[in-house]
Amino acid sequence: TAQATSSPAGDLGMAHLGQIIAVASGKGGVGKSTVSTNLALALAAQGAAVGLVDADLYGPSVPGMLGIETGKAPMMSPSGKVTPAQAHGIKVISMGMLTDDDKPAILRGPMVAKYLRMFVLDVDWGKLDFLILDLPPGTGDTQLTLAQAFPLTGAVVVSTPQDVSLKIARRGIRMMEQVKVPILGIVENMSGFTCPSCNEVTHIFHQGGGAEIAASLGVPFLGAIPLDPAIVDCGDEGRPLVIAHPDAPAAAVYRDIAAIL
Ligand code: ADP
Repeated sequence: TAQATSSPAGDLGMAHLGQIIAVASGKGGVGKSTVSTNLALALAAQGAAVGLVDADLYGPSVPGMLGIETGKAPMMSPSGKVTPAQAHGIKVISMGMLTDDDKPAILRGPMVAKYLRMFVLDVDWGKLDFLILDLPPGTGDTQLTLAQAFPLTGAVVVSTPQDVSLKIARRGIRMMEQVKVPILGIVENMSGFTCPSCNEVTHIFHQGGGAEIAASLGVPFLGAIPLDPAIVDCGDEGRPLVIAHPDAPAAAVYRDIAAIL
């Protein structure tokens, strides 16, 4: 449950970060950032101190989802560390806070690693129970840097129930295993749409694939989050579902997953 008592980070002077959990996906657009933000908020609702790193330096979407102002120089704390943004009770750092929305970060590989280290080590997180890392999609520099530089507790892998997405998720899982990051489990997102007028469920991207792939790889299946237009509106409005509509069925799934972590 939410209150972390020990973590491998303790051995490396990173005990104040608590459990470091990466949220990963094989490809973009499957809802990874939406899962990261809602999970972070669900953990905070359980009483945990939570930090969220938007590790997608090229396409940061977390500030928008949490209603965080972008394009301002970050504040420095007296200790010389970067002050994270506060949103709905969690602490957040994102490239989007440092750059204008219409001015993309243009970075070569070594700079990516530098920023990622800064986001984890040089931010004034205080004492956390959980540090959630919202990874960019795929199996590139960012994933390798974070997996190798930090003692990750594990990775949550997000996929839609669709075949192609699952095949790509499988690749991501293999990569995490190669760099010795434990897979905490698979979340199936966009997993069925309930018609608001007749209550019939339509499995737009199929169903059950997440549970199947979890079983075939021998990793836990953490839950299935339904397709819900409210999730899109909440993301656009900067108030994620677990805050804006805690009674929505999907919000309950986020809370259930948080309780497992
Ligand atoms: P990723 O981080 O994988 O690129 P995002 O979290 O940015 O994906 O989500 C992509 C889009 O899908 C966003 O518009 C988001 O609001 C929407 N979305 C994510 N999960 C759901 C869901 N369960 N139901 C409806 N829309 C969703």
